Amino acid sequence: MSPSLSHAKLYIVGIGPGGAEHLTKKATDVLLGSEYIIGNGTYLDQIKEIIHDKKIIRSGMGGEVERARKAVELGKDHIVSIISGGDANVYGMAGIVLEVAQKAEDIEIEVIPGVTAISAAASLLGAPLINDFAIISLSDLLTPQKMIDQRLRSAAEADFVIALYNPKSRSRKENFGRALDIIRKYRTENTPVGIVKNATREGETVIATTLGTLMEYDNIIDMSTIVLIGNSESKLWKNRIITPRGYQRKYEY
Ligand code: SAH
Repeated sequence: MSPSLSHAKLYIVGIGPGGAEHLTKKATDVLLGSEYIIGNGTYLDQIKEIIHDKKIIRSGMGGEVERARKAVELGKDHIVSIISGGDANVYGMAGIVLEVAQKAEDIEIEVIPGVTAISAAASLLGAPLINDFAIISLSDLLTPQKMIDQRLRSAAEADFVIALYNPKSRSRKENFGRALDIIRKYRTENTPVGIVKNATREGETVIATTLGTLMEYDNIIDMSTIVLIGNSESKLWKNRIITPRGYQRKYEY
């Protein structure tokens, strides 16, 4: 165990988008130094090689509040890691764990950053972000639909590149189309769109298309996918998307 992991502490660890090579060195050290690892099944499986000798608390998807409570309770007396896919600050466990911890005394907490899915997806697409961008989750489980619609309108109107997380689930198929209807009011049919499914893990699929032809790929879009909509300056190049940073306004190249 590394010397820094010698006393009770709760770590909230982002484990990256999937591929083992995208788990950071720091996250690896913290996981190896922990007594307990708490997470849902999918994410625990993602790191199973390095946590096989740990005490593992496996919880179902959706049981986040209970999982956070358990982590805070255990973290008072043990070295504990609670894990999130990608980064724990991007629709991950950092928020609920700190909310629960506010009510607990005497707990030391550290959040360990991870490679979030949009970083992995953007890299696969080349350079689609570069300038200002907005990430919006289409999941209405914890955010009212009205607020999602408002954020989509505002981001589209302000010409942000827009990355959609949680675009479509089995029980929630219709609001992906609803989101596109909003975005289409502000973007032309030629706007580049990237679809990245299972970035850095088995089944990785990368498609660069346009808003006009996006629906041809509708059937592959699910909860393992990010849909990225370019801004008014984004361009397609081979199977890539490039959003100019603005150099073209100052330089010739
Ligand atoms: N904390 C995570 C996001 C959790 S929300 C992070 O930082 O990446 C779950 C959503 O993230 C999924 O519905 C999907 O839209 C996106 N996602 C997570 N991993 C992904 C991957 N490997 N490839 C594509 N999208 C991914």
